[in-house]
Amino acid sequence: MIGLKQQDWSLDVLPRYFTLEDYEGGEARWCPGCGDHGVLTAVQRICRDDQVLPEKTVCVSGIGCSSRFPHYMATYGFHGLHGRALPVACGIKSRRPDLTVWVATGDGDCCSIGAGHWIHAIRYNMDMVVMLFDNNVYGLTKKQTSPTTRVGVKTNTHPRGAWLPPLNPTEATLGFTNVSFVANTVDWNPAHLHATLDAAYRHRGLSFVHIRQRCPHFTPDAFVDIVDDPSKVLLLEHENGLDVDPAVTRMYPNHMAHDPSDLIGALAVARRDDVAAIGLLFQDESRPCYEEFTHHGIGTTAEEKMVALDKELDRFAV
Ligand code: SF4
Repeated sequence: MIGLKQQDWSLDVLPRYFTLEDYEGGEARWCPGCGDHGVLTAVQRICRDDQVLPEKTVCVSGIGCSSRFPHYMATYGFHGLHGRALPVACGIKSRRPDLTVWVATGDGDCCSIGAGHWIHAIRYNMDMVVMLFDNNVYGLTKKQTSPTTRVGVKTNTHPRGAWLPPLNPTEATLGFTNVSFVANTVDWNPAHLHATLDAAYRHRGLSFVHIRQRCPHFTPDAFVDIVDDPSKVLLLEHENGLDVDPAVTRMYPNHMAHDPSDLIGALAVARRDDVAAIGLLFQDESRPCYEEFTHHGIGTTAEEKMVALDKELDRFAV
């Protein structure tokens, strides 16, 4: 949390201890085997471990399967419009920088209709975690080609197979102005997923986490090569990288030392298509966060607002 001068809206309450169940909202209605379940569990565990106050936490989403995320968290939530999770999250953060904000968005939601917001949210660099659930397809609307669908995959909109090369969300994000945290992980490795989201949660600024997310219903083959063959995964390691369990390290034979302060190196890793690189690609906590600007005026009284308004209007007196 950024150390800003701010008003504390919370009521005085007795000390509480929150269990995992205290963060569980409605029963998750994702398909059995859907990767979204694992991400939800990881976020709930991080909230429990850090004793995050549910009333000071907001989960924001757009539209899509993964965007049902706020319903399953017993926190505040905003299930918004298609592609609009990020402007809502930025709006919340601009006036309530004291809140913990998690954003759930999909490859269609973020990288297609929401792409304009994606670029600017990265530039605003407000302190939040953005989880891109990438299942390579529009799942909620029953299998249309998304920006990350691989060439040749047959969908309702491309029955003879997708034509265009897929967009690489990690590479794109690394190229946006003022990027401060980019990581890759996978839904099927709970320890790596947890370590990645935990580092993202602790980062000062916007943390962009690309999650390869299995969709057994519509794209069962999307990641089967990486799931079945750990040698197709490249585990990024560094003393300033993720704090992963040694069991994860033993699971993958291919490791690579990568300094997360090296943006050019991160781009080179993100572009590799011979392996799926997972780990922390880039981090720079010195980048400016927009809420340091937008928080000005928070906590002013109604009288102070009237004085400021009168002063502003007086500038136009003739
Ligand atoms: Fe998950 Fe795919 Fe089912 Fe949607 S359609 S809930 S992404 S498995």
